[in-house]
Amino acid sequence: MVKRNVNIAKLQAGYLFPEIGRRKKALLEKEPDVKLISLGIGNTTEPLSPHIIEGLQKEVTRLGTPEGYTGYDDDAQAQEFLNKLKTEISKNWYNDIINTDEIIVSDGSKPDCGRLFFLFGSDVSVAVQDPAYPVYVDGSVMIGATGGYNSDTEEFDGIEYMRCTAENDFFPDLSKVKKTDLIYFCSPNNPTGAVATTEQLKELVDFAKKNNSIIIFDAAYSEFIKEKNLPRSIFEIEGARECAIEVSSLSKSAGFTGVRLGWTIVPQELKFDDGESVRKDWQRVMGTLFNGSSNIAQHGAIAALSDIGLSEIKEKVNYYMENAKIIKDGLEELGIKTFGGINSPYIWAAFPGKKSWDVFEEILTKAHVVTTPGAGFGKAGEGFIRFSAFGKTSEIKEAVKRLQENFKTL
Ligand code: PLP
Repeated sequence: MVKRNVNIAKLQAGYLFPEIGRRKKALLEKEPDVKLISLGIGNTTEPLSPHIIEGLQKEVTRLGTPEGYTGYDDDAQAQEFLNKLKTEISKNWYNDIINTDEIIVSDGSKPDCGRLFFLFGSDVSVAVQDPAYPVYVDGSVMIGATGGYNSDTEEFDGIEYMRCTAENDFFPDLSKVKKTDLIYFCSPNNPTGAVATTEQLKELVDFAKKNNSIIIFDAAYSEFIKEKNLPRSIFEIEGARECAIEVSSLSKSAGFTGVRLGWTIVPQELKFDDGESVRKDWQRVMGTLFNGSSNIAQHGAIAALSDIGLSEIKEKVNYYMENAKIIKDGLEELGIKTFGGINSPYIWAAFPGKKSWDVFEEILTKAHVVTTPGAGFGKAGEGFIRFSAFGKTSEIKEAVKRLQENFKTL
């Protein structure tokens, strides 16, 4: 028998979403006629928009012709399309502040986060926001970049947890954060919905440069930023080109959660301590572990990044943000303090003095609404519930109505 990878064995048993599933199942076994409404997931629910569908369909048709067929992306025609996509990303997503050869197109930001663990290996120290999207910690554990799970602290030894709470405006007090090689930072944030300001990100960039750290900036929700003065990319911040990598995708904004198209930006200036180019190594990692994003998805993305596509994206984002407002207003009317939900599809609701799993259970059993307990995202998430704005507006309204009816008794 082969020995199990000790790093995988160190992971906490897939806790959050399986546990939510278990509790939903238990309720439905007791009350089979209940119609649950989910405000718990980060999955998109609106169908793809017409111009994007056209882009996808045209490529499918082209692939069925002898002259249009392309396979791996090393032939001239495939390269031409990939370059077009990178030009559109640079121009329409980044206002030309990124060179096309700094954009490495992929199948999404989560897979890129996974491959980034190969870029840095196990001999790195890691800082994450607390609460955080679980991939940063779990991936670091899998690659062996951490010590074991410490049941006393209920955290992994060796990970630097940067507390993001209402008290610090969901931006860590960097004077208390230890120097690490990597700093994972997500803005707009999943789960808190907080968006870092230019000043805050400048502080983070200065901190990273002082410590010779690399920031891995997760911008998966950048399109949800409405307020013009808030930065959508870490590369809007002076100095970031020497200390940051950005992962992004069309998943949440264009509904590409299933189509799969993302990218990672690795600037030319970013170097390892021996002066070697990080971008060169990233290209090597990608060349080894990845065979290019789907040519169909690439054409969908080219359509999504055109003027018409971008206005369709805006419409979609506005739809979800209307949902966010309905949830946020509904909770606030109940006297529940909420954060986020203005420049992000997540509303982070505070239930001081309560355990998030208890609140989750109460909402599930009384209102038949599925949410996500904040504690599942890290210790600092205790006492919070994450509400997601992805869903049908009619269901969101019904869920809020149920919350309002039932919270009177909570
Ligand atoms: N980053 C964050 C913060 C997310 O919440 C998610 C998905 O929920 C992802 C990345 C994954 O996105 P993608 O579909 O691009 O892999």
